[in-house]
Amino acid sequence: MAKSLYTFIILPEASARLHKLRLPVLVLHLLVVIGIISLFVIVGLGFSYAKMAFKVADYNKLQAENLDLKVQKKNLEVSTVKLGTKLTALQTLSGSTVDYRTSDLIRSSDPNVDVEFLKGRTTELENQLKLLEQVAVRRASILRFTPTIWPVRGMITSHYGNRLDPFNGDSEMHFGLDIAALYGSLVHAPADGIVIYAQRKSAYGNLIILDHGNGLTTRYGHLSRFNVQVGQTIRRNDMIGFVGTSGRSTAPHLHYEVRMNDRPINPRTYLPKS
Ligand SMILES: [Zn+2]
Repeated sequence: MAKSLYTFIILPEASARLHKLRLPVLVLHLLVVIGIISLFVIVGLGFSYAKMAFKVADYNKLQAENLDLKVQKKNLEVSTVKLGTKLTALQTLSGSTVDYRTSDLIRSSDPNVDVEFLKGRTTELENQLKLLEQVAVRRASILRFTPTIWPVRGMITSHYGNRLDPFNGDSEMHFGLDIAALYGSLVHAPADGIVIYAQRKSAYGNLIILDHGNGLTTRYGHLSRFNVQVGQTIRRNDMIGFVGTSGRSTAPHLHYEVRMNDRPINPRTYLPKS
């Protein structure tokens, strides 16, 4: 049987000698098959390379995001702890007894606590902080309008409560404190308020009434002179009048009264201990 051959004629240059390449058909077919397989392998490799390149890009992106999240979490941890400290300080300031779980804050700096939890906690703390700030502001405002100092310094010559009338010796209710002081001594407002009365009133003599809001009023009797007018806004320590002995009085002194919703209460409650 004749062997099937393909003959390839190669011309290196126009003038040069002819090269003849004889290849059996089987070899040629084999070469074609190898060529096709190689093509598939190259295309496949190309695809998997592209796939790997995409994966690497994704990985880098994820790593960057992870780093970003770590930074975010660290910041949140720091702000949570800061908020906790601020909250504790405010709690102390406002004397609040509400449980703000400050210990939880410190625990939440555990690296395993997730960012979402910290975010939620931070928002919660911020809300509590706002509330506490409001409480602190309100307390400061209440304190401004609460008597905290002596209107005049001197001996208490008559206490609040039942006593013997200095004029006729009968038992009577004394609605204030009598503080002895020299005639003309300065009388200071013990808290912020508004002057609602400044004129003579029978037994009180020259009387000033200050309104401190929330039902609280104070009275200053037997004055020799006024230093304020009705409607005037008063700050704590302002000079409102002068000690005298006007009205039903035997000697210069200040009759000091504190009333809640117009009911007299013991002014001692509002005086510093010394
Ligand atoms: Zn009195």
